[in-house]
Amino acid sequence: MNNNIVRPGQTIGILGGGQLGRMMAVAARHMGYRIAVLDPTEDCPCAHVADEHIVAAYDDREAAEQLLELSDVITYEFENVDLKVARLFEQADKLPQGAYSLEVTQNREKEKQVSVDAGLPVAKYEIVQTFDQFKGAMRTIDFPAVIKTVSGGYDGKGQLPLGSEEDFDDVETFMEEGGTYIVEQWVPFELEISQVFTRGQDGDITYFPVAENIHKNHILHETRVPATVSKKVAKKAQEAVKSLAEKMNIVGTFAVEMFVKDHDVYINELAPRPHNSGHYTIEACNVSQFEQHVRAICGLPLLPIHSFPAAVMVNVLGKHQEILHSKLERYYGFHVHDYGKSEARATRKMGHITFVGENLKEIDELIKNNQIHMW
Ligand code: AMP
Repeated sequence: MNNNIVRPGQTIGILGGGQLGRMMAVAARHMGYRIAVLDPTEDCPCAHVADEHIVAAYDDREAAEQLLELSDVITYEFENVDLKVARLFEQADKLPQGAYSLEVTQNREKEKQVSVDAGLPVAKYEIVQTFDQFKGAMRTIDFPAVIKTVSGGYDGKGQLPLGSEEDFDDVETFMEEGGTYIVEQWVPFELEISQVFTRGQDGDITYFPVAENIHKNHILHETRVPATVSKKVAKKAQEAVKSLAEKMNIVGTFAVEMFVKDHDVYINELAPRPHNSGHYTIEACNVSQFEQHVRAICGLPLLPIHSFPAAVMVNVLGKHQEILHSKLERYYGFHVHDYGKSEARATRKMGHITFVGENLKEIDELIKNNQIHMW
């Protein structure tokens, strides 16, 4: 028996028990795996579908050792995993994704460097640590631009757009905490896309259809498939992620967010895990981003991907949840996912809905008829 194969009845450990962990666990349970999750929140979404829940901080060494003990293989649902913990799992030969993908994706500077090393276009950027260095960097970067913390930011947090020198005072305040920052040229993109893919331990790669992403207030609002890009641009997106996947020796499901401008793709952000823009694959593809991820980490061959001609996923935030629940019996034509979170803050991701169909026009009509376009 091959030691790298994890078989039904064995346990998958998941670091992080939010919606991504929950959807991974649901896919894994269909395949007969047991689930152990480590998450500090008692009633977290993944705990509802897990066999074991270790309630502890993510960097709690004893809890990490307990997860290691319980699990035959370990994965994670977010990139900000304590690297010491990741290395502990890797040394025990239970983290097929490896710690390196985490090290890169936790840090925007490393992310950019890996992309540049792979020969891929990125927005022009400079790394700065002081306000003086920032002012120096702005001699080579034109307005508009954006300054971001190199680590820890998400959904638009930890970044400040720069329209002119009038914003410099705000930058000084923004940099007060100290640390390392990245100043980026603003890319006047035509659209934002993501390429979600999975790489097996044998190096095989499968690509989900390129998705078009629409953000509202920095939070993903809607994912549309097919993206409105030419075959040539879709091919560029696929080739870009292939070179990153091979360079980084990626295992599992991974997402690359890109800007499209003048028929070129610019790498924006890497996510070493299933991604919000891949949730549509649950209903729109024969194998979801979660099932394919489970197959990869368990050492199973990936499945070839077939999909519906069109799909749209819309996020359900706290502010949408009540109306969704109250009108559930009157809505038609879409799948509802609810993550089982107890507290519905206005901008918290509470669930999502997915439409599948023959074309986007037909789906857009359903969206309108159900008044989802008002969200
Ligand atoms: P990020 O956290 O880097 O993914 O940024 C969040 C969102 O801000 C992106 O999805 C873009 O809509 C926008 N954004 C960030 N950086 C840039 C940039 N250099 N040029 C254009 N838009 C950007």
